[in-house]
Amino acid sequence: MSSALLERPAPAATTAPPGLLQVHDLRKRYRSGDRTLEVLRGVDFAVAPGEFVAIVGQSGSGKSTLLHLMGLLDGADDGTISLDGVRIDDLPAARRDRLRNTALGMVFQAYHLLPELDALENVLAPLMVRHGVLEWLRLRGRARAQARELLERFGLGGRLHHKPRQLSGGEMQRVAIARALVTRPRVLLADEPTGNLDEATGAEILDTLCDLNRQDGLSIVLVTHDAAIARRADRIVRLAAGRVEDA
Ligand code: ADP
Ligand code: MG
Repeated sequence: MSSALLERPAPAATTAPPGLLQVHDLRKRYRSGDRTLEVLRGVDFAVAPGEFVAIVGQSGSGKSTLLHLMGLLDGADDGTISLDGVRIDDLPAARRDRLRNTALGMVFQAYHLLPELDALENVLAPLMVRHGVLEWLRLRGRARAQARELLERFGLGGRLHHKPRQLSGGEMQRVAIARALVTRPRVLLADEPTGNLDEATGAEILDTLCDLNRQDGLSIVLVTHDAAIARRADRIVRLAAGRVEDA
């Protein structure tokens, strides 16, 4: 547990052992005009340390909404999100930013790499924004070695200085996974990470995620609408009618 988290006491009401990342009674509504869409209607869900969980559900069932809330990219209307039993969704914005940069790694279907940076620089970006200029100058060498090591592990040792437009979809996604991991997150949240890839390339990305889980003990939450992909996880939960149930 990071020292920043130790400053806050665990919620007194929690009796069950906390999951690594746990959501309780999470609710999210979208309003457009005079219509209200209740996407999440009381979601309870927890990821154990070292667990690989897939969240499945039809398109529009709220999978991305749930993952974005768990990644602190958006705020819920009600409910709580806890890391190691400590509530994190109500932290001040700066503390939430810090958690996104340390404890929560995210990977998206569309990669979201910065087009003007090469692969190595994209992976380094989260570490650069974490440190002040002077500290960064001191840490830069070690950070670059770490980023290069990750890219080499993912078979991209020969692509370090390629810009995203010079990379294939599968390569871009592996850069994005390296970027998510360079901060050494407690949990990786992946939203349809193979959704833009052909089947064979998607299977390679999935193998990479499985290796990270099995070999490195990385906790993973993978959102997918594809049952075959979900079967690679330890556990599958289904999001339907705004709630989560074991699948
Ligand atoms: P999934 O990822 O399972 O396909 P989403 O979480 O993206 O589903 O979306 C769930 C529902 O919420 C969809 O009906 C979608 O149109 C709606 N929705 C998502 N984001 C917004 C938003 N920012 N404003 C209004 N409606 C939204
Ligand atoms: Mg989605």
